[in-house]
Amino acid sequence: MALNKADALMDVAIRRSFLIPSSEIYGSPSGFFDYGPVGAAIKRKIENLWRSEFLHKEGFHEIETSLIVPEAVLKASGHAENFADPLVTCSQCKNKFRADHLIEQSENAKKEHVKAAGLPPAQLGELIQKYAVLCPQCKKPTLSDVGWFNMMFRTNIGPIEGNTAYFRPETAQGIFLDFARIVRNYQSKLPIGIGQVGRSARNEISPRQGLIRMREFTQMELEYFFNPKDQSHPKFGKIKHEKLRFASEEGQPQYIEIEKAVHTGLVANEIMAYFLWKVERLYLSCGIPKEKFHFRKMPKEETPHYSKGNIDLEVETSYGLVETVGVAYRTDFDLSSHSKHSGADLSVFVEGEKAKVVPHVVEPSMGVDRLFWCVLEHAFRGKTPEKDWEWFDFPPAIAPYHAWIFPLMKKDGMDEKARQIEENLREEGLTVYYQDSGSIGRRYARADEIGVPYCITVDYDTLDEKSDKHGTVTVRFRNDGKQIRVKIGELSSKIAHFVKEGKVRDD
Ligand SMILES: [Zn+2]
Repeated sequence: MALNKADALMDVAIRRSFLIPSSEIYGSPSGFFDYGPVGAAIKRKIENLWRSEFLHKEGFHEIETSLIVPEAVLKASGHAENFADPLVTCSQCKNKFRADHLIEQSENAKKEHVKAAGLPPAQLGELIQKYAVLCPQCKKPTLSDVGWFNMMFRTNIGPIEGNTAYFRPETAQGIFLDFARIVRNYQSKLPIGIGQVGRSARNEISPRQGLIRMREFTQMELEYFFNPKDQSHPKFGKIKHEKLRFASEEGQPQYIEIEKAVHTGLVANEIMAYFLWKVERLYLSCGIPKEKFHFRKMPKEETPHYSKGNIDLEVETSYGLVETVGVAYRTDFDLSSHSKHSGADLSVFVEGEKAKVVPHVVEPSMGVDRLFWCVLEHAFRGKTPEKDWEWFDFPPAIAPYHAWIFPLMKKDGMDEKARQIEENLREEGLTVYYQDSGSIGRRYARADEIGVPYCITVDYDTLDEKSDKHGTVTVRFRNDGKQIRVKIGELSSKIAHFVKEGKVRDD
């Protein structure tokens, strides 16, 4: 049976060391993926691009908070109460299913494009009756009442039961908990930005679609704390005439000038607009084409009661449109709630007002894994007349290696010379990988297959003192296969320059 596009790409990703199903030799529970050497290198570079864009260039703080959090934290955040998915059980086979998904996928409901997501259990129960939704195992109408299932992984701190804790369902809460300490230590004035990259976990009832819905995943979250009386952003002037792509009611997404988007209320304030623009920049530098993603303002009924506006980023993938980023204006909900539950003062003194203010928050939040998958999808290239193999067109900044290095043949000192260059380049901070097995053509193909942008080859001319090419090597560009000769002493600076320029062909 031919694989669909997503399954075929997942197959490639596993064969080429991008991904490894977790605990594979014990049968791989669904909803977990490890990153292999190729994937881990790319993922780390994506995370560092985020750090550069969202933290370093803004002068914001990066922190790293605990994975395990006491129950009290999640009671204050609302997760203990509300972080649940609707679950329905089959009275016959006792299997449990995600109720809203089951309804939306059932034959009868599909015909009428029924939307079940977000409905309370009672209404989902009615829909199951109305559309005669069957148990996917038994193929019978044996589904029982719908209830809530809290998606947090639960554990206990220490040996004495009753110290309930959870694996954090998002990285954001840690930032709110550390907020007051950071403000005190830095004697900070608003606005303040604090972010982190880290793992979160959600015990999905039915994980699916590879990296899109996982039980353990990596988030990149920034909390931007500001005085609610000042909704401006200091860099807004620089970006206000740029255009962002927004989903429209009428179908095709439209490019809208940022200033207009704020004036018309499509975007809540300058701060939200600025971070939407940052999100776009990050996606473009990861190689996702501009016309393959757009922002969508969430309707009021799909946003939390405290929100003053949520805007998602949606990317076209072979799974359909996938939501990969959420930018939310969370007001003072989190800080006020933690202040109330803990008794801690989480306000900040504002000199101009001679008063303490509980800051408002705009939160750009995104999953690394979903972005990683989008990068794979949009960089994947099929066979062409020039290339008889499938390959990846990654921007050099996020490619798994800077370069691979080969001796033309494993003899006459070419291999030793290549080893020596490899070691020097590594000393210079480049990630390089030495290969000498198979024909040179086959080695180029293998490098292309994981998206390595440059291949360096040591040949006879490199070593031949009589040749005018003595002391030089060839550098082959991934996308057009063209080669130039570069002096060995200039290799690392040239490669670093090419990476910075995003050069992938010799033009
Ligand atoms: Zn059943």
